Amino acid sequence: MICIPIVANNLDDAVKDMTEASRFADIIELRIDYMKHPDLKILLERRTKPVIVTNRPVREGGKFEGSEDDRLSLLKLAIKLQADYVDVEHDSIQRLREDAALSAAAGKTKLIVSYHNFQETPANVTEIYQKLSNSGADIIKIITFATTIVDNITIYRLFQQAKMPLISFCMGEYGIISRILYKKFGSYVTFASLQKGKESAPGQVSIHELLNVYRVKSLDKQTAIYGLIGNPVSHSIGPYIHNALFMELGFNAVYVSFKVDRVADFIKEFKALDTRGYSVTIPHKESVMSCLDVIDPVSKSIGAVNTIVNRDGRLMGYNTDCEAAMKALECAIEGASHVPSPSKTATTNNTFLKGKTVTILGAGGAARAIAFGLKHRGATVTILNRNYERAQLLAGDVGCLAGRPEDFQAGRTDVIINATPVGMFPAVDATPIDRDKLKPGMVVFDTIYNPLETRLLREARGQGCTVVGGLQMFARQAAEQFQLWTGRMPSLESIEIIACERLANIQSRSDKHFLARKS
Ligand code: NAP
Repeated sequence: MICIPIVANNLDDAVKDMTEASRFADIIELRIDYMKHPDLKILLERRTKPVIVTNRPVREGGKFEGSEDDRLSLLKLAIKLQADYVDVEHDSIQRLREDAALSAAAGKTKLIVSYHNFQETPANVTEIYQKLSNSGADIIKIITFATTIVDNITIYRLFQQAKMPLISFCMGEYGIISRILYKKFGSYVTFASLQKGKESAPGQVSIHELLNVYRVKSLDKQTAIYGLIGNPVSHSIGPYIHNALFMELGFNAVYVSFKVDRVADFIKEFKALDTRGYSVTIPHKESVMSCLDVIDPVSKSIGAVNTIVNRDGRLMGYNTDCEAAMKALECAIEGASHVPSPSKTATTNNTFLKGKTVTILGAGGAARAIAFGLKHRGATVTILNRNYERAQLLAGDVGCLAGRPEDFQAGRTDVIINATPVGMFPAVDATPIDRDKLKPGMVVFDTIYNPLETRLLREARGQGCTVVGGLQMFARQAAEQFQLWTGRMPSLESIEIIACERLANIQSRSDKHFLARKS
C-alpha cells in the first residue's frame, strides 16, 4: 500500500491535499504535528481513504513542541473518533494503552508503534523490532537513516525475520531504494509525498515518480531488480529509460539508482536481493572489475565495465560504451543524419574510421572505451588531456599518441571527440575547444548528452562540421545493455524519445529550441 502524508499547516489546505492524495494513495497520513490547531473531527469526517493519525514530537523528528500530555490527548481523541490507524512512538505507547476508557474504542483503531532514527541504521534493529513486538501494537514501524547503501540490506534482512506486520525503510538519499522496493522487502506500506516540496522525511519520493517512473503498483516479490551503480546518481536518466522499456516490452522488472561509495561491499551485500543486472558509471567502472566472476574480452582490453549481468549467480562484466560510440560515429560519417534502427546499425559499414585521424579530448573512462574502439577500427588516435601523465598512460595502453590540450592540430584532425565533462549542464557556456579550430568537413562528436546540443556542437555545426551528439552514444549503450539483461533489443527511437522528454524537463530553454529544430 502507498501512504501519502499530509503536511499542510491549516485545515483548508489539509482537506484540499487529503482530497487530492486520495486519488493516488491507499492510505493517508494526517501529520497533525504540522498544524497549529488540528480539527480532528472535521479531518476524519472528510476522509475518503483510511487515515493514520500521527502527532510526531520534535524528539522523533516531528514538529509537535507542546507537552507530552497535550500530544497524547490528541492521539487519544483520534482513537475515540475511530481513526483507522494511530501512530504512537515506542516510548509513549504504554502511556496511551494504560488509558482504560480508550481500550474499547481502540478496537476499531489499529496501533502503529514507531521508532525513528535520523542519524543511522543501528546494527541492533532486530532487538528494536523484538522490543516493539511486545508493546501490544498491531503494526511495527522502524525507520532509520541510511549512511551507506548497504544499510538497506540491514532492513531487508529484518523483514526476513519479522513475524508481525512491519513498516520499515531507510531515509536519506542512500535509502530511496528501500522506499521504491517496499513490496520486494515486504513492507506493509511505503510513503510518498503528494508533490516535490511536500515531503515529511528525507529521501521521500513523490507519488508521481513512484507511480509513473517506478510503476510500484505493478511490482511484487517476483520483480527482477536492475540498477545503476555510481556516485553521484541522482542526475541519471537511466531509471526513466529502462523502466519505460520494461513496461513497453512487458518485463516484470524495475531499475533503480544505487548511490555506492564502496563498490566491493555493495556487490557482496546486494547478492541477498538477487539483483539481475547493473549499469556502472563514475567512479566504479574500473574498480568493479575485481568483484566480478567473468569479464568479456573487450572489457578486459579496455579495462572498464559499464554493464553487469547476473547469470545464474555469476556476475559477468561487459562494456557497451565502446561499440555504442563507434556506431554513433560511423553513422555520422556515413552521412546518416538520423538515428538508425538497430537492424541498420548492425549493417553499418565499420571501415569508415579506418585511416581517419582522431583527436580525443580527455583520458577518463569514456575516452578509454572510445580510444580502444578507434584503434581496433584502424584509426590514428591522439589523446589530449589536461593531466598529461594520464593521457600518456592511456596512450601507452592503447598504442597511440598523447598530448596536452594546447597541442591540438586542426590541420591534422578528421574527427574530434570530447570525452570531458566540459560543456555539460549546468555549465553549458563552456567549450573544450575554440570555435576557430573547428574546420568544415571535420566530424565533431561530443559525448555529453545533457544538453543535447552543447556549445561545442552548436559552434561546430556553424563551422560546417558534421556533428554527433552524446545521446546517440547513450541510446546505443543503453539498448545494448538492455539486450544483455533481457535478450530483447529495444528500439533506439524509443530510448531517444524518453531521454529527450526527460532532458527537456531539466534543461534550459535553448535545448527545447534544439528539440524543436530536430523534429
Ligand atoms: P572521467 O573518467 O571522470 O574522466 C573525465 C575526463 O575529463 C578526464 O580526462 C579529466 O581530465 C577530464 N576533465 C574533467 N574536467 C575537466 C575540465 N574542467 N577541463 C578539462 N578536462 C577535464 O569521466 P568519463 O566517464 O570519462 O566521462 C567523461 C564524459 O563522457 C562526461 O561528460 C560523460 O557525460 C561522458 N559520457 C557519455 C556517455 C554517453 O553514453 N554519451 C558515456 C560515458 C561518458 P583529468 O584527467 O585531467 O582530470
